[in-house]
Amino acid sequence: MIVIAVHGGAGNARPVTLKERREGVQKAMEAGWEILTHGGTALDAVEAAVRVMETLPFFNAGMGSVLNGDGIAEMDAGIMDGRNLNVGAVAAVSHIRHPVTLARRVLESEFVLLAGSGAEGFAWEHGFHHVPNRDLVTKQRLETWLENAGFSGKPAGYPWGDTVGAVALDASGSLAAATSTGGLTGKRAGRVGDSPLPGCGFWADNEWGAVSTTGLGETIVRSLLARRAVEGLERGLAPKDAADQALVYLKEKTGGWAGLILMTPNGETVARFNSSSMSYAIMRDDWKAPKFSE
Ligand code: ASP
Repeated sequence: MIVIAVHGGAGNARPVTLKERREGVQKAMEAGWEILTHGGTALDAVEAAVRVMETLPFFNAGMGSVLNGDGIAEMDAGIMDGRNLNVGAVAAVSHIRHPVTLARRVLESEFVLLAGSGAEGFAWEHGFHHVPNRDLVTKQRLETWLENAGFSGKPAGYPWGDTVGAVALDASGSLAAATSTGGLTGKRAGRVGDSPLPGCGFWADNEWGAVSTTGLGETIVRSLLARRAVEGLERGLAPKDAADQALVYLKEKTGGWAGLILMTPNGETVARFNSSSMSYAIMRDDWKAPKFSE
C-alpha cells in the first residue's frame, strides 16, 4: 500500500485563500504521490511534498514565511525516516529556499539538529544558495508585519497557521514525516518552535506510525504532541482516538491549540485539529480520489 497526507497548517484560515490553499495541498500531495507511485521512498515523498508548499506564497514555509520581530524570514524544519529513526532538522535559519531539504542534508550527516548561523554555514558548504531575505518575503507577509511592527519580540496572536507538513507510507512499508515553518508572526529572533523538534513537530517509526503537527509551538513542545499521538497508537488506540486524545492533553495541560496528520504502518490516516481549521489532502492507492479538508 502507498499513502500520502499533507497539511497546510492549523489555525483560523483566511477565507480569501481557501481555494489557493486547497490547490496548494493538492499540488504538494501530487508531488509526493508521483514519487510513491514510481517506487520512491516515503522520505523522498514527504520532502518533495513539503518543497512544493515551500514555494507557494500563501504557506508559512520557505518563500511566504511569516516574519520575525526583526522583519526576517527565520525558519524551522524537520524530517524523519521511520526505518531507522534518523532525524534531520534546522532551526532559526534564514536565506534558505528549501529548509526541508537542508533538514534532509542534516539527516544524511552525523548531526540531528543544526541552528542559526551554524546551520546556514552547513548549507553553504553543501551547495545551497544564499537567498536574500526579500526573495523569501511576500507582500502580504510584509504588510502583516508592518501593521504589527510594534509587537516585536512577542508572538502576537495566532490568527492563522499555514505551516506545512507531510507523512507518507511507501510500497516497502516505510513511513516518513516532515514539517516546515516560518514559525509565528513577530516571534522573537531566535525563537524556535516545535517544527524542528522530533516528538514535537514530527515523528516517524515504521513500527508504530508517522505524524506531522502544526499549531502553537510552545504548547506542542511542552506536550510532546507528535510523540504523544504515536504513543496512543502504541497503547492500542484507533488513529482518530490517538490523535484526539493527544490534542485534548495539549489543550488541558497547556491551553494551546494544534492540528496533526497521523498515519499508521498499515496506511490508516487521520487529520485532526482543535483550531478552527486545518487544510489537508490525503491519497491512498485503494482510493479513487484524494480526500480534502475543504
Ligand atoms: N507550530 C509552528 C510554530 O509554532 C506554527 C504553526 O504551526 O503554525 O512555530
